[in-house]
Amino acid sequence: MKKHNFSAGPCILPKEVLLQASEAVMDFNGSGLSLIEISHRSKDFVAVMEKARSLALELLGLEGQGYEALFLQGGASTQFLMTAYNLLENKAGYLNTGTWSDKAIKEAKLFGDVMEVGSSKDENFKYIPKGYTVPEGLDYLHLTSNNTIFGTQIKKFPKTDAPLICDMSSDIFSRQLDFSQFDLIYAGAQKNMGPAGATLVIIKQDILGKVTRKIPSMLDYQVHINKESMFNTPSVFAVYTSMLTLDWLKNLGGISAIEEINDKKAQLLYSEIELNPVFNGYANKADRSNMNATFNLSDDKLKGEFEKLLQEAGINGLNGHRSVGGYRASMYNALSLESVGVLVDVMSEMERKG
Ligand code: PMP
Repeated sequence: MKKHNFSAGPCILPKEVLLQASEAVMDFNGSGLSLIEISHRSKDFVAVMEKARSLALELLGLEGQGYEALFLQGGASTQFLMTAYNLLENKAGYLNTGTWSDKAIKEAKLFGDVMEVGSSKDENFKYIPKGYTVPEGLDYLHLTSNNTIFGTQIKKFPKTDAPLICDMSSDIFSRQLDFSQFDLIYAGAQKNMGPAGATLVIIKQDILGKVTRKIPSMLDYQVHINKESMFNTPSVFAVYTSMLTLDWLKNLGGISAIEEINDKKAQLLYSEIELNPVFNGYANKADRSNMNATFNLSDDKLKGEFEKLLQEAGINGLNGHRSVGGYRASMYNALSLESVGVLVDVMSEMERKG
């Protein structure tokens, strides 16, 4: 039976990528050796790392503009502290839009003053704060473009004279933006790129070297840049699979092509949530995420019936995060419009059954 995988992350990846990745685990480039049993310094793997780094910059339209792409380890969670370690000297601004921003703020406080320029904690992160002011002279402003747990997404980014840092873990490569407005972007691979284990960091070189503290090598962006993302053994399987996914996206027509499909998927699901009285959307309409749609049943007594239908339809991974409850449909790049259609059919059947 075909499965429709709405998991929030790790999540669905393109079938052809999974096939190629599994082939490489058995026999990498016809070498008779596995991708995961050869040296990361071998010619073949160095080429993988180079291609993955350059594809990331190419897809984001950031080639030749002073940016570097790194594949690091420790998840996006390590970036919460690494950004502050490398860039926070006096004071940084954070927009608090959910659990992940909150965690980034907590880590940054270990390194300097942190100012929350805005927060939507008052309404359990149902919306994206707007109209806030960003003071001058901050070391940087940190944003989370897509709030995986609450299902909100920043549509319009603030202008600031400070370097702009963005956690794009759950919507990188899903929509076209002017990526050059950001000075540092980070994203765990396990949503739109590949398996967990690699974290993509895109960094504008000229923001580095401005803090006075000493930085341990593994946490120093400049060290990783100097070593072309090979300071230590990289997560070879995660990097290879990410490279395959980035290549898949490029062949599909890049970010603008996938954005069109992502818009259709989100429109289909959100219009069902709006029209169907059995369901209520969680996030404010204007701030709804195209990647993670959060919603609840209007009557909890229908839970058993809804979940039975979901299972019969082969729908997986729809449970909401424990801090929000209800349901969350994650519609990452590799999820087809057809899968969203299957979910919408189940939702309409719930309405018909009344
Ligand atoms: N930021 C966001 C927006 C996320 O969705 C997640 C994980 N789901 C993280 C950070 C943390 O990522 P990791 O588990 O890779 O540390």
